[in-house]
Order: sequence, then C-alpha cells, then structure tokens
Amino acid sequence: MSLLPIIEYPDPHLRERAAEVDPALLAQPAFQKRLDDMFETMYEAPGIGLAAPQVDVLERFMIVDVSEERGQPLVFVNPVIRKRSEALRAHQEGCLSIPGIYAEVTRADGIEVEALDRHGKAFTMRVDGLLATCIQHEVDHLDGKLFIDYLSPLKRSMALKKLAKLRKRG
Ligand SMILES: [Zn+2]
Repeated sequence: MSLLPIIEYPDPHLRERAAEVDPALLAQPAFQKRLDDMFETMYEAPGIGLAAPQVDVLERFMIVDVSEERGQPLVFVNPVIRKRSEALRAHQEGCLSIPGIYAEVTRADGIEVEALDRHGKAFTMRVDGLLATCIQHEVDHLDGKLFIDYLSPLKRSMALKKLAKLRKRG
C-alpha cells in the first residue's frame, strides 16, 4: 500500500462533480488497490472519511471509518442519499483538504444512503449521528461541495484567513 497525496483547497478539482463509477471496474486490481491506498492515507492523516476527489480521482466513491478503534472501514461507490431526517445535528467539522480549519456545520441527524460496496454489491444503510454527518460531508465532495460552503460569509472569510495564516507558518 502507499500513501496518496491529498489535494487541498482551493484546488479546482475539489469543485468538480465527480463521474459515476462503472461497476465493471470494481473487480480490477487497480481499483481495489486504490481503495486500500485511500484507507492507509485516511488512517495516517488521521481522518474519518476520504472521498476520491480528495486524492484527485474525479469518480463517485468514498471511504469512511468513524470507529474509535479504526476497525470499521466502509466503502461507498456511487452513493445516493435517499432520505434525510428533519432532526438536525450540529458538528464541529474539519476536512483533510482544508487542514487546520474546524467549524460547526448543521446537517440532517439521520440519513438513508444507497451505494455499492467495494465488490459491487448494492446496499442500503440507515444511520445517524457522527456516521451520518461524515457520509453527508463525503457525498458533498463528490458534488464539488466543501463544508466551508455552509458557513456564513463572515465565518467563511475568517476560516480562510486562518488557513492562509497556517500555511504561511508552514
Ligand atoms: Zn472533507
């Protein structure tokens, strides 16, 4: 396995809509290796989710593991969020593509998501809490959306100033 470079804001590739994955490609060793490399990259970072566009692959798949012991790896290929609860949940979010910046974002507390697993098998999951927050954040990446887009203009400009400062410091 190998670590993949994570692209960072404001890389324009983070703003593109990723393409559907052809399920026939899932069986290819190259696709499976890319998933393994993404897990290694996410665990090393460390992060709880990583979408393919963040490693500059403009395709609709992503990985998630919100467990404490980092032992519940989930793969979502061509995910679609079918339902969102009316109940909301606020969470202090961060993003491996916007390192060092955290801000509260409010999203649906519960969701129903459909996707293919890494072997191309379709599944539906109903989840809530941190896992639902994380899945919504990662699906946004597949649509070129970032968590800072949810902030008020003032909070966003403060976050981006802080990012510039952090980068200057190296
Ligand atoms: Zn992110």
